[in-house]
Amino acid sequence: MSKAAVHVAFDQPLEIRTDVEVAEPKEGEIKVRIAASGVCHSDLSVQNATIPLPPPCVLGHEGAGVVEQVGPGVTAFAPGDHVVLTFVPQCGECFFCQRGQGYLCEGGVKFNGGRRMTSGGQELTQMTELGTFSDVTVVPAISAIKIDKDVPLKVAALLGCGVQTGVGAAINTADIKKGDTVAVIGCGGVGLNVIQGARIAGADRIIAIDTMDSKLQMAKEFGATDFVNASDGDPVAKVKELTGGRGVDVAFEVIGLAPTIQQAMDMSRRGGETVLVGVPRFDVNLSLNANFGVIMTAKTLKGCWYGSTNASEDVPKLLDLYKKGELKLDELISREIPLEQVNEAFEAMKKGEVARSVIVFD
Ligand code: ZN
Ligand code: ZN
Repeated sequence: MSKAAVHVAFDQPLEIRTDVEVAEPKEGEIKVRIAASGVCHSDLSVQNATIPLPPPCVLGHEGAGVVEQVGPGVTAFAPGDHVVLTFVPQCGECFFCQRGQGYLCEGGVKFNGGRRMTSGGQELTQMTELGTFSDVTVVPAISAIKIDKDVPLKVAALLGCGVQTGVGAAINTADIKKGDTVAVIGCGGVGLNVIQGARIAGADRIIAIDTMDSKLQMAKEFGATDFVNASDGDPVAKVKELTGGRGVDVAFEVIGLAPTIQQAMDMSRRGGETVLVGVPRFDVNLSLNANFGVIMTAKTLKGCWYGSTNASEDVPKLLDLYKKGELKLDELISREIPLEQVNEAFEAMKKGEVARSVIVFD
């Protein structure tokens, strides 16, 4: 029997089930013993119906662990391998993978029929076919990336979502030039990674914007140089003031709300870029003035999905940066918790108390 945190109804706490049965891996699948899983804002977004995945569903999409068993036809992994899991795997064959845009892969990762977890006779789905809030899971083998055994798994887990998305937004999606000034609206787990990505990409000034001083304090640790508490007045005016009235070269929105997206666009300079990283509700639309908002100001608006990363190539690169001390990962882990405290981790995230809570399985 396995143990998992299950989303059973919207706006209800996750339920810890200790009677979860995990199936044998089928063709092209592997069974992974999860060592650690980050608690990401998108998990909370499922629970509060921003991302309305139907219950019952095992949440968690940012994990790392050890391969326990491989299904028929799997040659890339063997039991004992350490892996990071990704919810954006690449098939390697589709139009997008062939063009180096694996983050848009349309190969799909759906299980080849059926579910892999049950609890009390009930079938459970797994968030993004991962379900890392479980001590054991079965996943498509292409959702796993083998990593060196000297990387702590609780650190590696973070690469699955927040780090790739945030750092990737800065080093892949955005066009940051050495000496640029950037602004980052939203300094949660992903925003902090945008900040350190911007530093790695060569930005000189990094303006962190949030409504919580606790998060601005964390932003400083990850490389932000200027701080704007958006509760103290119009952040666009503040950013203009900090940039000689011009605005920033690149503005990142890492919340996913229409008003802050508008602010990001307004605080980018003429000819500048706005990168949308935060995932909004499905019904959020943008309103743009085509003339002054885009054409005469020559502004660029970019959507950023999964940091424009190709996980199989970028996970090793990010781990290299970590080993060289350029990428802070240990510092992202504010709390290590047992699975049973996942609901408390959601509360801590809402209050802005943590960069990341990481569930560590024994
Ligand atoms: Zn996530
Ligand atoms: Zn593909």
